[in-house]
Amino acid sequence: MIKVHVLSCGSTVVDEALPFSNKSKNPLAFTGILRDKKHKISVPVTAYLIEHPKGLVLIDTGWDTAIRDNARKYEGFVNYFASPGFLPEGEAVTEHLAALGYSPGDVDYCIMTHMDIDHAGGIGLMQDAKHIMCSKAEWKAASGRNPRYLKRLWKDIKVETFPDEKYDLFGDKSVILFPLHGHSAGMTGVRVGTKDKYLIIAGDGGYGRPSWEDLIIPGVEWNRKEAMRSLKRLQRFGNDEHCQAILMTHDTEMKTKIFEI
Ligand SMILES: [Zn+2]
Repeated sequence: MIKVHVLSCGSTVVDEALPFSNKSKNPLAFTGILRDKKHKISVPVTAYLIEHPKGLVLIDTGWDTAIRDNARKYEGFVNYFASPGFLPEGEAVTEHLAALGYSPGDVDYCIMTHMDIDHAGGIGLMQDAKHIMCSKAEWKAASGRNPRYLKRLWKDIKVETFPDEKYDLFGDKSVILFPLHGHSAGMTGVRVGTKDKYLIIAGDGGYGRPSWEDLIIPGVEWNRKEAMRSLKRLQRFGNDEHCQAILMTHDTEMKTKIFEI
């Protein structure tokens, strides 16, 4: 049996046009620049722990505990302005692991759906994991000059890459990493389970059910065309009776905390 824990790792405040671009006609609305505070919404930040017979897999890391001392300094100006984060006691990814009886060194694979700070921000907490990985395309983008990526967070960490195509983590098709490019250059989704019963961890491939049901593109994306292709991919999963759930990092509707497959 495979168990997937949905870990609540605090929250972040964003413009309502970020998850669903149809909330504003202003193409820069998602940045919050010149936008009234009434457009701000709080969304959850989640990570996922997969307890698998072949190993322990963490998907994303949420915020570092450093955010509690000085969020502005930790996030940097650009990220703090667009999406200030909040991490209550007990919700850091390592605090969740401890509550489940694990330490970071017990984690075989720490997979980043992408390297934005609300996903890879806790990478420093997880430096003892056996493997820390993201996709090749994401690593290339995150190593470039884009201010969206805070390279200081992983400067002392060995990040390995997996190819930008379907990648079978344990070689038995039970955990498949696959490209959901668009929101970022190398966004990765995860399919957990079997052909007959599986769930999808979609990171920021979508922000809620309307994303894939009505194909609503988010306010910010690296590549619009690829983001739409990824939404259509999620829609196919969503319409498949064997798919138990599509888990999205900032989905305000997701209430289930543990899935068993
Ligand atoms: Zn995010």
